[in-house]
Amino acid sequence: MDLLIVENLCKTYGTGETKVDALKNVSFSVSKGEFIVIVGPSGSGKSTLLNLIGALDVPTSGKVFLDGKDIFAMKEEELSVFRRRNIGFIFQAYNLVPELNVEENIILPLLLDYRKPDKKYIDELLGILGLTERKYHLPHQLSGGQQQRVAIGRALATKPAIILADEPTGNLDTKNSRDVINLMKMSVERYNQTLIMITHNQSFASFADRVLNVVDGVVTELGGGQR
Ligand code: ADP
Ligand code: ADP
Repeated sequence: MDLLIVENLCKTYGTGETKVDALKNVSFSVSKGEFIVIVGPSGSGKSTLLNLIGALDVPTSGKVFLDGKDIFAMKEEELSVFRRRNIGFIFQAYNLVPELNVEENIILPLLLDYRKPDKKYIDELLGILGLTERKYHLPHQLSGGQQQRVAIGRALATKPAIILADEPTGNLDTKNSRDVINLMKMSVERYNQTLIMITHNQSFASFADRVLNVVDGVVTELGGGQR
């Protein structure tokens, strides 16, 4: 079954002089377990598309179905529970809670959902992310790259069905980027997750099952790499 169906999605920002057609009738679907990479020039609509798939914004027209659910038909409370249970967000704004330490930030989405953290898995994540020695640190005591890795840990800790990542390695050096990509591959393979990732890093496209190219609000398929 298709985990994600994007149907005739359009997004227009502004009116008159400031009107921008950021997405123009975009349709595609993604199966469970697929790794999709989204590429395209700056300002072409990539972030807009990812925001809509995660229902962080509403489209001008069109629909998104996630796991069979019409996400824009859901009420806000239902949607926030759905997001927390099913979607792992790795966005450029890390949105870490400043008063909580690294480990607490990572397990927070589980606690909010009254789910018991898988302690072994959390420790494994901390280890792979190189954060074991930082688990009691607060976000302001970390570098930008470490904060980014905490955000990645938080997105994976819930074992979500779908992971939406916007330049997840943007703030990381080559070694950390490679570790993070390997971690994401491990996660998607182990838990049969769907990963949709915006990246400017050409070498990540070769890990993907399919590459979507966004140019001026239009999405075309570039044909797959191989995992
Ligand atoms: P990048 O181009 O590196 O992917 P962004 O996705 O943040 O960066 O932004 C792309 C473009 O969208 C930029 O030209 C930016 O000015 C514009 N943009 C992003 N968010 C907003 C906003 N909230 N209001 C107006 N313009 C925005
Ligand atoms: P990308 O992620 O590919 O860089 P975006 O999706 O951020 O592109 O932006 C696509 C277009 O929509 C750009 O022309 C940008 O200026 C515009 N845009 C993005 N977000 C907003 C916003 N919140 N308000 C107005 N225009 C926006």
